[in-house]
Amino acid sequence: MTARERAPSSPTRDRRASIVPPMPGQRVVMRGIAASPGIATGRAVVVDRRRSHVPRRHIGAPEVEREAERLRAAAMASEADLKLIQTRLLEDASGEHSSILDAHLLIVRDEMLLGGARRLIRDELINAEWALKRTVERIKELFDRNSDDYFRERRSDVDFVGDRILRHLTGDRATLSVDRQSIVVAHDLSPADTATLSRQPVIGLVLDVGSRTSHTAIMARALELPAVVATGDATAMIAADDFVIVDGLRGEVVVSPTDEEIERADDKGRRYVSFSRGLLGRRDEPATTLDGERLTLRANLELPAEAAIAVDHGADGVGLYRTEFLFIDRDEPPGEDEQAQLYADVLRVVAPREVTMRTFDLGGDKFATAIRTPRTLRRSLGLRGIRLALAHSDLLRTQLIAILRAATEVPQCRLRVMFPMVASIKELDAAKAVFAEARAVVERRGLAPPEVPLGVMIEVPSAAIMAPQLGTRCDFFSVGTNDLVQYTLAIDRINEEMAHLSSPLDPAVLRMLAMTLDAARAVDIPCAVCGEAAADPTCVPVLVGLGARELSMHPAAIPLVREVVRRLDARRAREVAYQCLLSSSSDEAEEIVRSAFGAELADVFGGMDEIES
Ligand code: PEP
Ligand code: MG
Repeated sequence: MTARERAPSSPTRDRRASIVPPMPGQRVVMRGIAASPGIATGRAVVVDRRRSHVPRRHIGAPEVEREAERLRAAAMASEADLKLIQTRLLEDASGEHSSILDAHLLIVRDEMLLGGARRLIRDELINAEWALKRTVERIKELFDRNSDDYFRERRSDVDFVGDRILRHLTGDRATLSVDRQSIVVAHDLSPADTATLSRQPVIGLVLDVGSRTSHTAIMARALELPAVVATGDATAMIAADDFVIVDGLRGEVVVSPTDEEIERADDKGRRYVSFSRGLLGRRDEPATTLDGERLTLRANLELPAEAAIAVDHGADGVGLYRTEFLFIDRDEPPGEDEQAQLYADVLRVVAPREVTMRTFDLGGDKFATAIRTPRTLRRSLGLRGIRLALAHSDLLRTQLIAILRAATEVPQCRLRVMFPMVASIKELDAAKAVFAEARAVVERRGLAPPEVPLGVMIEVPSAAIMAPQLGTRCDFFSVGTNDLVQYTLAIDRINEEMAHLSSPLDPAVLRMLAMTLDAARAVDIPCAVCGEAAADPTCVPVLVGLGARELSMHPAAIPLVREVVRRLDARRAREVAYQCLLSSSSDEAEEIVRSAFGAELADVFGGMDEIES
């Protein structure tokens, strides 16, 4: 389809002006989250995977066994589907992202889901479909209490798996299928549905809901499918066969664009493809600045399954493994054996590269039902991070024992352990004492764990201020800019309405960073940066300029950050960082960076608008 074959467009309409769907051919611009980069232009296929019909029926006691058996069979059939999709994904997307479906395979076997539904069949005498639906809703309610992206994503995972089992129960097995080159527009898609798109002529994806970190977004990136998510109402605004531009770089969707817009979009898409191929092709090159400063780029992990993704993106190891996600969404904390096995898996996949495990960082926005803490104490300024762990030192000890056991199981591993949200020397000393106890327990069992460097996360101002002293009592620092920004600027990190005020380029935050990096240099210990700032191309020159040589970020960001580093002159970055420290606001600091590196990083800063063909 060429630009000239389209019907002429009528005047532009902003989607926010009205919820009434546009007239055919009316130009509409929608904004969402840029979830997977690239540009697609083509006709829309609108799919609705939202609702499967749920038959509800009371049953007699003699039917309980039969309903439980139907449920079991549907779960097994769903498991078989997921395994098949995973195998196909291994063939289509060079394998690494198939691990995303591991989460769904775990859910399909999970006792919380199936056991819960079985109990409802038996206790309330209702049919399998109804029992399953109610159990899914109950689990989703637990996730709803949290506004973190991670929980929203787990909520969708449970929904997707529940829906798949339900389709088996009801016999509604229609798979998503697209028969001509199209842009898929949907309310939401499961990662499994997205994976099935890889064998179909789909060129782009637009969703009503979702987030940058949703597994569907990760899958879209794996399949190199340009995607915009969280558009709000794309399924209401876009009709089948509408011509659409999906700009996965800007997070913009244009419905019924003009001919010139289509030509510009196609041109931008071609430039992006050649740029990104170049980046991934260079993933084995060192992250070395023009003047020879070598950086280490590591990955942040939330789930063990992401370790393989990190390695695939050329990570020099794992700089932050957020172990707390093992503690969330369960009634009892994970036991020592379970933890030891999962940690050993991660160490094995990443070895011989280094893995930095952070002890569980709960409280604030990360809430675990397994750890019973009064709501009033769980807040950002309450019992969280190491403070919470020390209040439950038995759990911390068990975790450290599991970590040390894992390290003995994987002799080729390189392991570091760090403590989150340390706010005082007393807390560090207490955490180290628990580590020593854990080590003694492991040694008493006849094991000989390796020496493990112990680090402190610098993410509250008191830790940055006390860095010179903390640095003499630990082996490394890792700066968590997400929380450091929150606590330095007094801006709640999960409040979307405050987000525009929050920036790691704020000179107050930069001064905290500079103090920490200087303190680490003075006592000759490494200092990494592992918050989101490490993945932000505008912040990277400043971090390099302040002296950071280890950055850790979500795996997908590594190729781009490597590229940014390779185009920088570290001496020039130092001058620019100094100017930023003296600036009066984050806006001014950002302007300083953009004008200083506007020539070298024009394509990165300009979102491909500046890149040459
Ligand atoms: C941070 O605060 O920057 C950090 C890396 O920790 P988390 O985002 O897990 O709180
Ligand atoms: Mg933090």
